[in-house]
Amino acid sequence: MAKKYQGHAVGIDLGTTYSCVGVWQEQHCRVEIIHNDQGNRTTPSCVAFTENQRLIGDAAKNQAAANPTNTVFDAKRLICRKYSDPIVKNDILMWPFKVTAGIDDKPMIVVTYKDQEKHFSAEEISSMVLTKMRQIAEAFLESPVCNAVITVPAYFNGSQRKATRDAGAIAGLNVMRIISEPTAAAIAYGLYKRLDCAGERNIFIFDLGGGTFDVSLLTIKGKVFQVKATAGNTHLGGEDFDNRVVSYFVKEFNRKNKVDISGNARALRRLRTACEKAKRTLSYAVTATIELDAFFTGIDFYSSISRARFEELNSDLFRECLETVDQCLTDAKMDKASVHDVVLVGGSSRIPKVQELLQEFFEGKELYKSINPDEAVAYGAAVTAALLKGASESTAPDLVLQDVTPLSLGEAEIGDVMCVVIPRNTTIPIKKSQIFEPVYDNQSYMFIEIYEGERTRASDNNLLGHFTLSGIPPAPKGHPIFTCFELDADGILCVTAEEKTTGNKNQITITNDKGKLSQEEIERLIEEAERYKVEDEKFLEKANAIRALDDYVYDMEKALIGSKLCPEDKKKLNSAIDKARTVLDDGNKENIEIHVFVEYLNEAKLIFEPIIAKTD
Ligand code: AMP
Repeated sequence: MAKKYQGHAVGIDLGTTYSCVGVWQEQHCRVEIIHNDQGNRTTPSCVAFTENQRLIGDAAKNQAAANPTNTVFDAKRLICRKYSDPIVKNDILMWPFKVTAGIDDKPMIVVTYKDQEKHFSAEEISSMVLTKMRQIAEAFLESPVCNAVITVPAYFNGSQRKATRDAGAIAGLNVMRIISEPTAAAIAYGLYKRLDCAGERNIFIFDLGGGTFDVSLLTIKGKVFQVKATAGNTHLGGEDFDNRVVSYFVKEFNRKNKVDISGNARALRRLRTACEKAKRTLSYAVTATIELDAFFTGIDFYSSISRARFEELNSDLFRECLETVDQCLTDAKMDKASVHDVVLVGGSSRIPKVQELLQEFFEGKELYKSINPDEAVAYGAAVTAALLKGASESTAPDLVLQDVTPLSLGEAEIGDVMCVVIPRNTTIPIKKSQIFEPVYDNQSYMFIEIYEGERTRASDNNLLGHFTLSGIPPAPKGHPIFTCFELDADGILCVTAEEKTTGNKNQITITNDKGKLSQEEIERLIEEAERYKVEDEKFLEKANAIRALDDYVYDMEKALIGSKLCPEDKKKLNSAIDKARTVLDDGNKENIEIHVFVEYLNEAKLIFEPIIAKTD
């Protein structure tokens, strides 16, 4: 049953460089992408501070060259990152505004507003952009707008999603749901295509925006939109291509005039705007010019750049995009030939080289360009908002969204082994059970640790939380404890452990607002998982060898108790147990080679097997 919301509900695509707002119009049964006060359907995600006012959107961007140090953009790149993060440090070098380290290493944007120094977090700047989008919608709808669905990159982690939700709340919006950008784009595609889309369709959303890059593979069947896999980079997009062009011209200006402009915020801002314009021109022309009068110390700067040079400057970044595409298909276990449509989303997907490489990757397949790449995400968000507001009363199309979890979730097993309960890219909501076993006889409690990540060693992953299940009745080791992982549509995880004979239960709820990884940590974990794969396999092999020996010793100990073994067999068995225990109880087990455990097990078998044979 859909929840009831009072007032209008809009969909907002909060982009790194541009934002867009849309609303489902009941009377026309379609989404209206709302134009702003300048008549533009997208609004720069830019906020400026002057001696007497704060400007947001086009007004802020238009005065950027004259007021570079107090004109803030790219706030989305700072969401839930650390000031000391090398990526942030690198970004700061390219920005004309100042960023310092705040509490807990949180990056804080420093501006002068009404002659006073002010510090703002990325969430605060984003909330200002959201306020502007809300005002744009209110001016069009001529009434207050309270509810919104806001989109985020698919690869945004829990904390980044939470921060975006907070930004919405600061802007006075009731954030109905945070949805992934490619999923929203898929909704737009699905609605365009619905009429002629019979059966099941696999669609690949390629979303290359201003600051983020996302890909998702979805299957649309009837009204169900199911995400199969998602991959991305929250730090790759048009801004990075602009940066390469800016650096190229800074060097050229230096070479021609023997002056370095890289420390001059005003000149850099003017150059950046010119470079972005040139980049757009290169999407339809083969050369673009830069004309900056009195650019630096009275020197004019006239130059040009060819499309080929632009492509060369960015070739590694373009290649990176394709690696992500490949990763997503691998994760979805889908062959590229099974993809029905490759949908282009995000302003940077207009770059001809990007399209060429993508088409080549998909073996010449025509790319789907019928939806507006700048508006598709807001379109899907607006449809979702209408659905959440009350699908039964609305004319909004009836559809069901099924998203996935970007990282595996599991529990630490004996020997620090990560036991995955919910693998990454599993459709959510999901409920999965697993049996865990106490490792000693009569173990009265169990300490349960929940992790997210892709590494084999549990402690190499991100610890989400832990709890203890006590009151386990006396029982031999191996007595089953039932654990249930339940992940809801908003990414909230509840883990319950239960001992069935007594009904003893304990549980933990892990919300997505704390303890989550930052984007680069996710990427690092996945990258590390690849790099350390061999090491991980070795670790697992050793853990298994130790466990096998331990189990065998346990069986031998059991055989000793109350059995009718002759004194000689008892003696043999005791000495085999003692010998095995020397390695099992060694505090320095880390340094013992795997073959030692295997050999000890084989030796123990040689002794124990004939003894069992006699008792059979
Ligand atoms: P989005 O975040 O989807 O609004 O995308 C904005 C990014 O797309 C910015 O970096 C723009 O410079 C870039 N962009 C928009 N149009 C074009 C174009 N025709 N060619 C290349 N890049 C573009």
